[in-house]
Amino acid sequence: MSFPPSPDLSPFHDLLGEGGVVTDAASLTRYTHDQRALMQGQTPGVLRPRSTEEVQEIVRLAARHGFGLVPQGGNTGYVGGATPEPGRGQLVVSLERMSRIRSVDATGFTLACDAGTILADAQAAAEAHGCLLPLSLGAEGSCRLGGNVGTNAGGLQVLRYGMTRDLVLGLEVVLPDGSLFSDVRTLRKNNIGYDLKQLFIGAEGTLGIVTGVVLKLWPAQTQRATAWMQLAADAPIPEIAALVRRETADLASTFELISASSLGLVAAMRGADLGLSAGPGGAVLLELSASSPRIPLEDILLGTLEALMEAGHVEDAVLAQSERQRREMWTIRETIPEAEKHAGGSVKLDIAVPTSAVSDFLARAGAVVAEHAPGTRLSFYGHVGDGNIHFNLMVPAGRDRIAFTAEVEEGIAHAVYAVAIELGGSFSAEYGIGRFKRDLLGRYGDAVRLDLLAAVKRAVDPAGLMNAGAMT
Ligand SMILES: Cc1cc2nc3c(=O)[nH]c(=O)nc-3n(C[C@H](O)[C@H](O)[C@H](O)COP(=O)(O)OP(=O)(O)OC[C@H]3O[C@@H](n4cnc5c(N)ncnc54)[C@H](O)[C@@H]3O)c2cc1C
Repeated sequence: MSFPPSPDLSPFHDLLGEGGVVTDAASLTRYTHDQRALMQGQTPGVLRPRSTEEVQEIVRLAARHGFGLVPQGGNTGYVGGATPEPGRGQLVVSLERMSRIRSVDATGFTLACDAGTILADAQAAAEAHGCLLPLSLGAEGSCRLGGNVGTNAGGLQVLRYGMTRDLVLGLEVVLPDGSLFSDVRTLRKNNIGYDLKQLFIGAEGTLGIVTGVVLKLWPAQTQRATAWMQLAADAPIPEIAALVRRETADLASTFELISASSLGLVAAMRGADLGLSAGPGGAVLLELSASSPRIPLEDILLGTLEALMEAGHVEDAVLAQSERQRREMWTIRETIPEAEKHAGGSVKLDIAVPTSAVSDFLARAGAVVAEHAPGTRLSFYGHVGDGNIHFNLMVPAGRDRIAFTAEVEEGIAHAVYAVAIELGGSFSAEYGIGRFKRDLLGRYGDAVRLDLLAAVKRAVDPAGLMNAGAMT
């Protein structure tokens, strides 16, 4: 179906009322640009429902009037999954006005909220009840739980608590026919056939619009011990992470690898010495946390560092002596993406490998880049807990970012993905498939898997209403 430039959105205006439909060009921009400004999307309008019932009615109206829909949370995704595609007449459904915390159960350790809740607000609600919502990522001040579910977000504490898929207890989802899949229970065990909610986690909005989420909580972390470790040359990262897990009885909540080159970019952006350095094998930000003051966290951390030094894996380490020092360590880790931008930008290859293959991947992928693109600066860092490494190629001085991105994605990226795949890994980890990686899915996905994906999509969304162009 081809769309007139200004299709009639009056049924949506009637449904959603004042402030419910955005159509003016200036306001649309923040919904139509993807996070990395690689794609300029297009939409006749953005719909801003306030309730699950309104989302159901939107879906019915869209089907009746021939509009596709693109669910959107905070629009912080990296692969254009929430970007309405030019020419498809897709309306964006933004859940930003559905941000109610529905309940927090500090005894059963669960939190239920609308899917438009900003992740940081959900964390704060849990904390106010003495609980921890461990999902934590750099975009937590703007990403929303529906988006976290849509992308199966991981983040900074995956080593101990897992990713979104491990944290979701229940979901409420509006299906493409407007009916409601309501599985918002706080039950931990419920064997009643297929665990259907799992279908919608990581589905990138292609099977329905998530409107409600129930998450597992943990006792709040009341003490933390944080160290910055300088790794020795050829330090075996998987063995270090395993030793940390054993020595700390799994109290490590963060194990973030930071390459010397990424650290150099942060220093260059600040124009000052950071006061922390990387060893020849890079650096690791290690944090232990506990909910009880009776656990001697600092002793455990010191003992672990000693064991790592004795094994020759760590050359030196700095312990955070104050909350200010701890924050400073975290700020360095969190400003790497900004520092990459400041240095002219990077092409982000978001891969994952089994944790035990992280060092092999870095050595082999580094060699591939050195051979095929000599002189290209790398910046790599990542969450060792889920084997998710951001392996980024810096845009050379004087090169156009978009042109360089295209060149890398058509060329050397495939050699890097091949290394990850050979090691049992994936060409897509944190970011998902979205619109930028859908060709890769066809190229690297095996036939049985692709057929099954297509069959599920056909069964749930036969008319292709939901987020057409994303993933498939
Ligand atoms: C600085 C920074 C740091 C980041 N760090 C991490 C990290 O550590 N780990 C990580 O995994 N990601 C990370 N990301 C990527 C991004 O923040 C996550 O993918 C996040 O989960 C996206 O949430 P969002 O609300 O912004 O979703 P959006 O970008 O709005 O949407 C993402 C996808 O989910 C779908 N979607 C959105 N809402 C719904 C809904 N209600 N129902 C169904 N589908 C929906 C969209 O259609 C789209 O396909 C980072 C991004 C930035 C900018």
